[in-house]
Amino acid sequence: MKVYKFGGASVKSAEGVRNLKYIIEDQSELFIIISAMGKTTNALEEVFDAMRKGDIAVCEAKIAEIKAYHYTTIADLFGSAEYRIEEVDALFEALRNAVTTNKFERSRAEEWYDHIVAYGELVSTTIISAFLNKEGISNKWIDMRRAFLTEQRHKDANVNLEATAVRLKREIGDSEVSVFVGQGFIGGAPDGTTTTLGREGSDYSAAIVANVLDAESMSVWKDVDGILNADPKKFPDARKIER
Ligand code: ASP
Ligand code: MG
Repeated sequence: MKVYKFGGASVKSAEGVRNLKYIIEDQSELFIIISAMGKTTNALEEVFDAMRKGDIAVCEAKIAEIKAYHYTTIADLFGSAEYRIEEVDALFEALRNAVTTNKFERSRAEEWYDHIVAYGELVSTTIISAFLNKEGISNKWIDMRRAFLTEQRHKDANVNLEATAVRLKREIGDSEVSVFVGQGFIGGAPDGTTTTLGREGSDYSAAIVANVLDAESMSVWKDVDGILNADPKKFPDARKIER
């Protein structure tokens, strides 16, 4: 098994998703970890803030914006502005219900934060899994809320490696497909609530998958021209390494 991780910048548009397909297309035995598309996590943090303030109209408007952004990408990937993905609609409906029908309790703020921001990764992986299937790359969507057992701690949870190894192998099962698509950044607590691993946590997710599945390698794909030999903010003469 190999593990590939794609961050939000790499999948921010249909062009990025097509590039992901191009990168993985002749791989098998592959576990792909994907972040939320573009700046979706930031946008979902704004939904959370509005919920905290009890501003339901703002919540709804922001969710509609996030949904429209994803549907722009879907329209491009699936070739029609009318194309609908049932699971994506269901996720946005669940998110809308969660923030509009629940009364916010301060004591559960971090639990709510995790519940809301997790939708970014749930939606991105649902879209990309559906697109890859359409393109003939059979894959299984893995729900990392079930695969990763974290500690009972929100916003910044650590993953229990032993329990996760058992769960993740169970989720993969004796699946006929050999390509798996899972969300970075999210997991599940012992009480069943959604947890997150801290902002920018998707690299950590990929490392855990590689560790517990004893993968031969873990690669983080970046949308950059190359790697510099030093931090250019500290070393203005940093040079790009060509190979
Ligand atoms: N989507 C999350 C974030 O923006 C996790 C990640 O991208 O690594 O922080
Ligand atoms: Mg990132």
